Amino acid sequence: MLEARPSELLNIDRAVERLLALASSVTEVETVALSEAVGRISAEEVLAPCDLPPFDASAMDGYAVSAAGANNTRVKRFRVVGESLAGHPATCPVTEGAAVRIFTGAVLPTDADAVLLQEDATTGRGFVSTAEPVRSGQHVRRRGHDIATGATLCAPHTKLSAYHATWLAACGIASVRVKRRVRVAVASTGDELTAPGQPLGMGQIYDSNRFALSTLLGQKACDIVDLGCLADDREAVREALANAVRHADLIVTSGGVSVGSADFVKDVIAELGEVEFWRIAMKPGKPLTVGRIDQALVIGLPGNPVSTIVTYLLFVAPAIDKTAGAKPPEPLILRARLERPVRHTLGRREYMRGDLRTSDGELLVRTTGDQSSNRLSTFANANCLVIIDENVSDMAAGETVGVIPLQDETAHLLCK
Ligand code: AMP
Ligand code: MG
Repeated sequence: MLEARPSELLNIDRAVERLLALASSVTEVETVALSEAVGRISAEEVLAPCDLPPFDASAMDGYAVSAAGANNTRVKRFRVVGESLAGHPATCPVTEGAAVRIFTGAVLPTDADAVLLQEDATTGRGFVSTAEPVRSGQHVRRRGHDIATGATLCAPHTKLSAYHATWLAACGIASVRVKRRVRVAVASTGDELTAPGQPLGMGQIYDSNRFALSTLLGQKACDIVDLGCLADDREAVREALANAVRHADLIVTSGGVSVGSADFVKDVIAELGEVEFWRIAMKPGKPLTVGRIDQALVIGLPGNPVSTIVTYLLFVAPAIDKTAGAKPPEPLILRARLERPVRHTLGRREYMRGDLRTSDGELLVRTTGDQSSNRLSTFANANCLVIIDENVSDMAAGETVGVIPLQDETAHLLCK
């Protein structure tokens, strides 16, 4: 066990490294329809079965001609001998002096190698002419210029995005071999917890962590087994975890990992399996506990709702990707300038919730108010995590920090 002494906390990068080393990838493979493939992990390399485009096609509306024939004469005048529309190729070839009326995406007729733009053409009865030079290949999309047969569409271990799936669809692929979904069991712990929708008793709070975890896990290639909300009772926690390891690859709990008298998760992991490490030099999230029971990786997240979400993002999400068989992605950390000062105590790396924006092409970030780990409101207006390193103390406005964007809907052009 790699346990920190009470006075000593594990460096967060080492902890993530250690967790990812413990997470072994599922090996089973299944075939899914392309419509079900987004978010899944490709099990094998996918090669293009055809050229894209599959034929020489027109890139514009105009007239398909032979450039060599056209440039033989000063006044280029062609007899219009046919028509080629998308999905309706012309049947006649383009002989010298002839042109075929053509539209975007239509097959270039035999012997044509250029498209004369309709804007550059003068039309007469049955004829078309232009004064412009005609270059071989102009306004033509060559067969295979996007994707050539045999090109790699996606490598194994790729998390399939909507863009990958679209590419496969464009090549006519309707199903794909992927790794099976990761089975993740999720539990909350705490006698104070009540399910949303129920009346709230004295001293009770609503169980938001299980909702947060299920929702975030819903974006992953996993099947979620909801273990419910466990009482602060050693037996209850033991029974739930012992049952869950029978089918789960990963068990994620929240709460009960601190040193209070009602915190049983770490002890139960130690009893049924092994605690690999706990207590991380981070804020929020210090009590995070990682262990193993049989084949299942167990991640005990701290109960404070913000700690649960932050440790989910930094630990659980990459562990699931690794277990799912994906290559761990390079973290995307931007540099932004603090708009306001932040207070920070040396020693633990802090992940504050922040509002990131651009101003005159520069990235600016401000934190979202009091950063206490129970304040879910810090997430409400956040679009990033702001990283304050362990080896710095208070930071002044204008200083530069690392930020991790939280959302990917950033491609719109309307300003706030
Ligand atoms: P714990 O880690 O169990 O000591 O919990 C720390 C704090 O988080 C306490 O204030 C708990 O009431 C709160 N908490 C624990 N679990 C949840 C949960 N599932 N939803 C909301 N708050 C929770
Ligand atoms: Mg608790």
